[in-house]
Amino acid sequence: MRFPLSLSIDLTRYLIRKRLAGEEKFPLVLMLEPTHQCNLACKGCGRIQEYRDTLDKCMTLEECLAAVEECGAPVVTVTGGEPLIYPPVFELVEELIHRRKHVYLCTNAVLLEKALPRLPVSSHLTLSIHLDGLASTHDFILGRPGLFHTAIRAIKAAKARGLRVCTNTTIYKQTDVLEIEILFAYLTEIGVDGILVSPAYSFSGVAPELFLSREEIREKFTRLTLNGLPVRYSSTPMYLSFLRGERHYECSPWANPTVNPRGWRSPCYQLLDTHYPTFAELMSKTDWERYGTGRDPRCAQCMMHSGFEPSVVRQLGLKEAWQMLWWNLT
Ligand code: SF4
Repeated sequence: MRFPLSLSIDLTRYLIRKRLAGEEKFPLVLMLEPTHQCNLACKGCGRIQEYRDTLDKCMTLEECLAAVEECGAPVVTVTGGEPLIYPPVFELVEELIHRRKHVYLCTNAVLLEKALPRLPVSSHLTLSIHLDGLASTHDFILGRPGLFHTAIRAIKAAKARGLRVCTNTTIYKQTDVLEIEILFAYLTEIGVDGILVSPAYSFSGVAPELFLSREEIREKFTRLTLNGLPVRYSSTPMYLSFLRGERHYECSPWANPTVNPRGWRSPCYQLLDTHYPTFAELMSKTDWERYGTGRDPRCAQCMMHSGFEPSVVRQLGLKEAWQMLWWNLT
């Protein structure tokens, strides 16, 4: 299964509860960034530019847990920065699982092998490992030789330990589709549980020549996802169809709220206009109608999974829900 059964059940229950309560805007996945410190400086990373003045700041464990409780989303993605250099990361993961949250721990895998004995084997924990190409491309983007092989070794070690492992690939303007096809075939062969793929978003201050227009996104994703290869995507079929330009979604920026040492980021994971001290203020004070394709020029090229995968989940009809269930089982 691409997602654990417990996650599908918890998410379905949560969606039904929210719909019965008549709530229109609610979080699905909390992006928790306890620190923006990182052991790398990848090309295309917006965080180390946007937060360069507060890179030394970390949320305390208590602040992380209070944010998780206030938000209430059933899924928590622990990201950053590099979460494995956040000192209480293991306590944080244990505590989140104890609170029945579904945790995605994002990592560049540099420190992963060493960390494995301290990570619990649980259907509530999935490792999400960043891989942007085969060895030469991946190492070039991450800025250090040998990191692709480090990541592959860590993936195999994590799988051997019984952990759930997904990968996470960003497609840039220069990305060679054939190379990504080979990468995804290889990752499927070594048994990763799911492959998440998304076009890059053009963060301000980061080399604009790296990023794709919507037209280029459609072209690359059509080639990549209609090639007939048996790739184990965890990006939903509806989202991939959206990337190919076959269907339309409005984004749901509130569904993937982001919290970090500066507070609750508004309006979304990509755009930064301000931070609010509480989740309640983020939801009530952000003028959501101002954002999205055709409203804010910064949104024009955005097709990021963090903005649009929640729209897929929120708009699932009965037929699509069955399709998703079948897809998850295959
Ligand atoms: S379109 Fe993208 S950048 Fe704009 S608000 Fe939505 S998620 Fe954020």
